[in-house]
This record gives sequence, C-alpha cells and structure tokens, in this order.
Amino acid sequence: MTTDFDAVVVGAGFGGLSMLQNLRQLDMSVKVFERGDGVGGTWYWNRYPGARCDSESVYYMFSDHFSPQILDEWTWSERFAAQPEILDYLNFVTDKMDLRRDIQFGTAVTGAVYDEANNRWEITTDDGGTTTARYLVTAVGCISTTNLPAFPGLADYAGERYHTGAWPHEPVDFSGKRVAVIGTGATGVQAIPEIAKQAAHLVVFQRTPNYDIPARNRPLDTEYVQEVKAEYPELWEKARASGFGLPYQVVEGSAAEAPPEERQQRYQRAWDKGGFYIGLETYSDFLVNKDSNDTISDFIRSRIRETVRDPATAELLAPSDHPFSTKRPPLETDYYVTYNRDNVTLVDINRTPIATITRDGLRTSEQEYAFDAIVFATGFDAMTGTLFKMGITGRDGLALEDKWADGPSTYLGLTTHGFPNLFMITGPQSPSVLSNMPVAIEQNTEWIAGLIEHMREVGADYSEATAEAERGWVEHHNQVADATLLLGTNSWWVGANIPGKPRTLYPYVGGVGAFRDICADVARKGYEGITLTSRTPVR
Ligand code: NAP
Repeated sequence: MTTDFDAVVVGAGFGGLSMLQNLRQLDMSVKVFERGDGVGGTWYWNRYPGARCDSESVYYMFSDHFSPQILDEWTWSERFAAQPEILDYLNFVTDKMDLRRDIQFGTAVTGAVYDEANNRWEITTDDGGTTTARYLVTAVGCISTTNLPAFPGLADYAGERYHTGAWPHEPVDFSGKRVAVIGTGATGVQAIPEIAKQAAHLVVFQRTPNYDIPARNRPLDTEYVQEVKAEYPELWEKARASGFGLPYQVVEGSAAEAPPEERQQRYQRAWDKGGFYIGLETYSDFLVNKDSNDTISDFIRSRIRETVRDPATAELLAPSDHPFSTKRPPLETDYYVTYNRDNVTLVDINRTPIATITRDGLRTSEQEYAFDAIVFATGFDAMTGTLFKMGITGRDGLALEDKWADGPSTYLGLTTHGFPNLFMITGPQSPSVLSNMPVAIEQNTEWIAGLIEHMREVGADYSEATAEAERGWVEHHNQVADATLLLGTNSWWVGANIPGKPRTLYPYVGGVGAFRDICADVARKGYEGITLTSRTPVR
C-alpha cells in the first residue's frame, strides 16, 4: 500500500515530536516513523541503571516556543531527571499535543530515495510499506546506533550480555552476580555505581579515564521551581543565545592568566555547585588554550586523588592523555567512591588489553575472568551511523554514505547538496551534541518549518543547498574546529571510536547562539545558499 504525505519525519524523540508539532502548525499532512514501540528516542532505548540527564532538568525540556502551557504544567522532581521521568515527560507532551495519531511505532525506515521525476521522497519501511512525501526530515538522534566492538570470541560468550544503548525493558537484577562493565564514558559512569550496589563483584574495564564532574543531584523544591518558571522567558532567550544551550552566566577570561588563588576558588565553587558550571561559568578559554586547560585538568585530577583511597586506582582514574572537555565530561554520582568498595575492581586495558571474550567471561593479556553478565557501555556510531543505515539516496542515485565517504558535508548541518527537500535535525556540522539538546532541536525544527513556509509563499516546492554554500559552511565549520583542542583527542565527537570512520569534528563548535544568528541571517536573505524552485510536474 502506498500512502502519500506532505512530510515524513523519522524518529519520535525530542526532535521528531518538535518537528511534527511545527509542521502541523503549517497544516501539513505528516507521518512519523519510529522504530521503538513508544516515543522517546534516546530515552526510550537507554534504560540502563543510573540513566539520567546531564543537563539540568528545568532546561532539558521544550521551551515556551513549543508550548507555554506544558512548560507551566510540567514539574520535574529532581535537579537531573532520571530516564523514567524524562520518558514520562515526553509521553505527557505527546498526549497533551495529541501527537500520537501521526506516529507509526515499531517501524524502521529501510530506504529513502529521492524520485526526481515526481520531486518526492519514496520511503520504504520494514513492515513492507512504501510512503511518499515531498519533504523528508530525519530526527533520528545523534547517538542511536550502538557500537558493539568486534571483540574476538564475542559469539562464544554464554552468559548474559547487555548494551547500555539497547537495554531490556524488564528490570535486570545483578544481585549476587559477577559482572563486567566495558567502557567508562558518560554512560558507564552512570551505570557503574548502580551495578556495583547489586553485583557480588564488578570488574570495570577502562580504556580512557574521563574528567568526571560531580552532578550533585537533589530533589527540586517547589520554591526553586516556581522561581525558574517565573523567569522562563528570559532563561530561554539566554539559552538560545548561549554557547552550549544552557542559560548559564558566561564568564569571559583566561584561566591561565588568572591569579592562582582566584582560579582555585572559582573552580572549587563551581565544583561544589555540581553540573557543567565548572566548564561554563569559570573561564572561557578551556577549549582553545592548553595552558588554561591544564589548570582545570589539574584541579579535577586532584579531586579524584582525594576521593579514591587506593593510590594506584586513583592514578588509573586520573586522565592524563587528553585535555578536559575535549571528550564529553560525564557527570558523576558516587562514581569515584564506588572504587573504594571491596566488590569493585578497575582494570586498565591499555596495560592488559582484552585478548578475547570467552564462553565464561573474558581473558586479558594477563588474566582470565569469569562473569555471569557483561555490560557493554561502549557507546555509539554517533551522528552518521543511523543516517547511513536508512538507505538515503538523493539526486542521480547518490547514496548519502557515498557522498560523505570522507566525512559529512552539509549546509548548516541541516541540508546537504544533492538531496533536495531533505532536512536533518541535529545533523553533523550543526551544534547538536555540543548543545543542551532540546535547545538545538527547537532551533533546527523552527528553521526547517520557516523554510517550508517561505517556499509556500514564493511558490517553490523544491529546495536544495548549493554546492558553493555547502563548501562555505564546511570551510567555516573546519576553521572553527581547527581553532580548538578538540581534534587532537580521540573521542566519538571526531569519530575516533569507530574503526575506519573519517576523522573530523562532527558537531559544530561555533556556539549555539552564533549558529542561531547565522541561520536567522540566511533566512532573512531569502534562504541564501538554497536553490528554491518549483519542479513538481503537473499531473
Ligand atoms: P562513549 O562516551 O563513546 O564511551 C564509550 C566507552 O567505551 C569509552 O570508555 C570507550 O573508551 C569504551 N570503548 C569503546 N570501544 C571500546 C573498545 N573497543 N574496547 C574497550 N573500550 C571501548 O559512549 P557513552 O558512554 O555511551 O556516551 C556517549 C554519549 O552519550 C556521551 O558522550 C553523552 O553525550 C551521551 N550521554 C548523555 C547522558 C546524559 O546526558 N544523560 C548520559 C550518558 C551518555 P575510549 O574512551 O577509550 O574510546
């Protein structure tokens, strides 16, 4: 059965819900395909123990642009919301806005081919269906394709096996079990303390230690929530204009040039406050000045050494191979103190690499381990992994993965030349994962809806970024990236976690506010850099 819509949106997380709502306001017919059986995207799949948001919950939600009423009605219970509460919120939003009726759940997109003759996208799904639409919007999330490294012997392992990014819906009980966790990124750092509380013994296999910042999570009191709610209009404006999508007080100045005593006090204050304040509200040059970065890296290493009792373990946990914030710093709750427990062991797999997974556990270059369960907290093929799995094929039969074989090439991270009427939410070369996500998402979806509305006004039904505009954006993106320390560190932000993935900075690091201004300017100039014409044949 073929069905036809004005737009198809892929994904029903924050991005898909926001896009659906924006397109509805244009009275468009929209179909959303979602591979999960419910809304939520990242928050639908990532149900591992300890999963919670690293953005403060009062800012990790749709803003007044989306619905002032929902903003007022919804109240978070904790400073950093746990996964079930975020999923509840997204279901609340979905029902409040009556979004569910346009979403087809349990359906993955298997192909999306631009049909030049009809100026439409032809979308195939794993239920055997074919759907056509003028516009195709990907809202597939940045970290939605899990990375399970090809450890030798993986297929022989007979015990329980989990990946944090595809966690079972039923509770997993580790009580009395011998458990391994491989990976100490933001996910592992959240899961490890929770698993340690249950397991008989937990062995953590670490490749790279991170600079973990205390979350200092707490229940939110009514007075604070009311204060925030009263200030929301200004707070959202501030977040939209900010560097990272959070309404924090930016403090200009170089850490390296500050008097050591002042620096120490500022770091300590922010450390005690918890959350990302230490990176965002102390000094402004950590990502561009190695000397400044050394000061904050030293500060955090000292805190780790103070917390972890065994000096050898503390040394393994103190990062020295990369500057602070050149990998995503995790927020931690009881992470470092977990290594003071008798039932937790840390293994440095740089010194003793995992040689093979075995039937009963795994073997490093030094030792054999038996496990009842192995938890892979090994991350994602981020930013492009899911886009490439969808079989997106543009003009002249060009596949997206072929066009991007040497790395993404986009105009504003929102469009790409050769793929008419295709829009990406939080695509590569947009702020995406370097922003508090809902703020980046709303900017993207509002801009896309604005472009479609403009096309209507000028009688266009075909939009395509020009090759020249795209070259200009990629050049700017790379210039901004090159000015930072980010490319020098092996992180998933630069694709280093996936063998063979092109090394380039995937998110745009020029800032959320600056990006917003650039996009607004493009719009003001009649969507400069995008060819807008009428191509649909008269039937
Ligand atoms: P990640 O940051 O990519 O961490 C994966 C971990 O697995 C790293 O420690 C990595 O080591 C290790 N690893 C990967 N391949 C390996 C291999 N072949 N052998 C041994 N170790 C291997 O993934 P993640 O922790 O799932 O986090 C991904 C992103 O999700 C975060 O950066 C963050 O943006 C987001 N996140 C957000 C929240 C939140 O806000 N609530 C929570 C969790 C995650 P290396 O570091 O050496 O590569």
